[in-house]
Amino acid sequence: MSEIAKAIYRLKEELPSNVKLVAVSKFHPAEAVLEAYRAGQRVFGESRPQELHAKVEVLPDDISWHFIGHLQTNKLKLVLPYVSLVESVDSLHLVEAIDRWGRDNGKTTDILLEIHIASEDTKQGFSRDEALAVLADAGKYPNIRILGLMGMATLTDDESVIRHDFSSLVSLRDEIAANIGKFPSLPENFGILSFGMTHDYRIAVEMGADMVRIGTLIFGERVY
Ligand SMILES: *Cc1c(COP(=O)(O)O)cnc(C)c1O
Repeated sequence: MSEIAKAIYRLKEELPSNVKLVAVSKFHPAEAVLEAYRAGQRVFGESRPQELHAKVEVLPDDISWHFIGHLQTNKLKLVLPYVSLVESVDSLHLVEAIDRWGRDNGKTTDILLEIHIASEDTKQGFSRDEALAVLADAGKYPNIRILGLMGMATLTDDESVIRHDFSSLVSLRDEIAANIGKFPSLPENFGILSFGMTHDYRIAVEMGADMVRIGTLIFGERVY
C-alpha cells in the first residue's frame, strides 16, 4: 500500500464520521491524487486555478473539488464550473464577482467566507464585522449560497494561540446562529466551519471543525 493510501486510511479511522476530510493536493501531481482516490478519498482541495483545471481534466468525474486559495476575479471561469465549494472567498469584491458569474452562466456556487483569524496580517480574509455585513446582505447575491466560514490559525507551535484563533471562528458562527433572524437570506444549512490543517487538525476536530483541510500529512512536503 502506498504512503498516501495509508495516510488516508489512518485519517478516516481517526476523524469522527461527521468531520469531512478535504485532501489538499496542491503542488502534487495528478497521480498522487489518484492514489488517494483509490483509497476512497473523494474530496480534494486546490489553491491555484490552472493547476485545478489541469487536474479536473485528467481525473475521475466523481471527485468533489474545493477551491481553497486566493481567487482572482479574472480566473473564475477556470474554477467555478468545476468546484463543489469555494472555501476561500475573502472579499466583497469576490462575492460580487462570483454572484455575477453565476448569473451569466446559470450556476449557483456554494461558498464559505474566509475569516481573518490569525494574528499575522499576511493572511487573507474578512474581519468579523465585514463578514457579518455580507451575511446580513446575502439576499443580494442570489447566485451564491454561503454555507459557512473558513479560517486559518496563526502559524505557530503555541497551542494557546491556535485555540484562540479557532475559537474566534467558532464564536462568530455561534453568534450568527443565535441571531439568525438578522440573516434572513442565509441557507438553512448555514454553519459549516472549515478549519484545521496538518499541524493543527487535532485541535480543530476537538474544537468542532466540520471540515479539515489536510495536505502535507497525506501527500508529503510540497515541491515548489
Ligand atoms: C495548503 C493549505 C492547506 C493544507 O496545509 P497542510 O499544512 O499541508 O495540511 C489547508 N488550507 C489552506 C487554505 C491551504 O492553502
